Amino acid sequence: MNAGGPQRRHIGVSEAHRPEVSTLRNYVGGSWRPAGDVEALADVDPASGETVALVPLSGAAEVRTAVEAARAAQPGWREVPPQRRARAVLALRDGLLKRREELVALVSADMGKTLEDADGEVGRGIESVESAAAIPHLLKGEMLEGVAAGVDVELVRQPVGVVGAITPFNFPAMIPLWFLPYAIACGNSFLLKPSEQDPRPAELIVEIVDSVEEIPPGVVNLVHGGRAAVTAILEDPGIDAVSFVGRAETARIVAEGAVRTGKRVQALGGAKNSLVVMPDADLGQAMPAIMGSAFGAAGQRCLAGSVCVVVGDETRRTEVREALVEAASKLTIGPGDDPATDVCPMVSAAARDKVAEAIDRAASNGANLLLDGRGDAGPADTILGPTIAVAGDPESELSRDELFGPLLTVVEVNDLNAAIEFLNGSRYGNAGAIFTQSGAAARQYRYGAEAGMLGVNVGVPAPVAWFPFSGWKDSIDGDLHANGSDAVRFYTREKVITSRW
Ligand code: NAD
Repeated sequence: MNAGGPQRRHIGVSEAHRPEVSTLRNYVGGSWRPAGDVEALADVDPASGETVALVPLSGAAEVRTAVEAARAAQPGWREVPPQRRARAVLALRDGLLKRREELVALVSADMGKTLEDADGEVGRGIESVESAAAIPHLLKGEMLEGVAAGVDVELVRQPVGVVGAITPFNFPAMIPLWFLPYAIACGNSFLLKPSEQDPRPAELIVEIVDSVEEIPPGVVNLVHGGRAAVTAILEDPGIDAVSFVGRAETARIVAEGAVRTGKRVQALGGAKNSLVVMPDADLGQAMPAIMGSAFGAAGQRCLAGSVCVVVGDETRRTEVREALVEAASKLTIGPGDDPATDVCPMVSAAARDKVAEAIDRAASNGANLLLDGRGDAGPADTILGPTIAVAGDPESELSRDELFGPLLTVVEVNDLNAAIEFLNGSRYGNAGAIFTQSGAAARQYRYGAEAGMLGVNVGVPAPVAWFPFSGWKDSIDGDLHANGSDAVRFYTREKVITSRW
């Protein structure tokens, strides 16, 4: 980080990341094949604005072919003993580790985030694979002996069948890896439809799957596309369960569509997370955590702290405002592949415009902009500098809507009760954090906050893969979350057998 105001660095795509512009292919039944005669969308490097690949917008026909391949492979895959499926997952882990650097570079180049952040993402994805490798333990059933004379009851878990996964742009490697390893470890076959904005990391993951001989053809399939492919997944009777991550509006479309056709669904939606700064918080420790949470990945994380709720009197409010502005002014803005960068470009010019327009509206409605990042948007029109605004109205667009950019809204309140009341007024319930030195305040917060992932002096409270990623309210449609024991419950059906011999 540099001192003396946000630093803007030259943005350009490095030679190492300048791939040929080719049209991506689908992976069906163990082989790569071009999508049919469909439109293609440009996959644009967020730093340079260059087109790096063309993404075919597959339709119902491509989805159908992939579903047929997945259905054909699933019965045989289910027969493979769980220990051997676990070994296949471990072989996938080895493959990911071997090509980790390549995957990290591709995440950074395709989505725009820094290499350090991309490395963290890939590391998290690999942890999901490691967690799924415990499948022989995780799949074990239950038994109750002697419910009547000579009668025993057993519960066993069986795969649901074919799983469709639809993933967002902001974690193009980690989120496919939240779903793929558990789904196949449970004995299902799998069809992935990655984000059309940055699908190349998913393609590399599937290339690695292809190299794992323990995973038979057809168990994992990849179909590129956008809305039409999602509609086809929702309507295809050959898909039994749908895992989704994206905006809350899309989550609702996916959840309703899946239920209409009788599929099991987990649809993880958006977020608006609050970071509560108590009067006793050590600002020296809290500020780096708040900066990372609000501005890391240019605010494009579902765990981003996008509202800072400052508890205290006028003196404390001024102190926190000044500390926020001072810390944010030191952040370096630049391309993801520059190790000096703190704040990367946004994924697209359209995403940047959406946030800049919300800042325009807030400014014309009298919001107090403590730091304004709407300067030079860079060569691809994707740069937005860190922006800090004090919301005049705590129910304003800036305080309540998910804007998904490097924008931190400050809301000021008198006490912790008011802070909790504010954050519980959100339609979302993904995450939040408190910064304090008081165990009692932390306890009141963790008891009362209506969000599923909380941090105490931790700015990005992402659970490790052995726990569920457990958003509440509009941050999920469905009951079972990604990762941990929830994943195993989602990807299996319970069967209860009552026996008398
Ligand atoms: P998005 O909803 O635009 O897209 C997600 C997926 O849905 C993509 O594969 C896309 O092709 C498809 N899609 C988009 N619009 C569609 C429509 N109208 N009908 C059918 N399919 C559609 O989300 P995004 O912008 O790629 O991702 C960012 C969002 O994801 C943010 O809201 C973020 O909070 C959320 N997110 C949530 C979590 C979580 O765990 N809750 C994690 C990561 C991201």
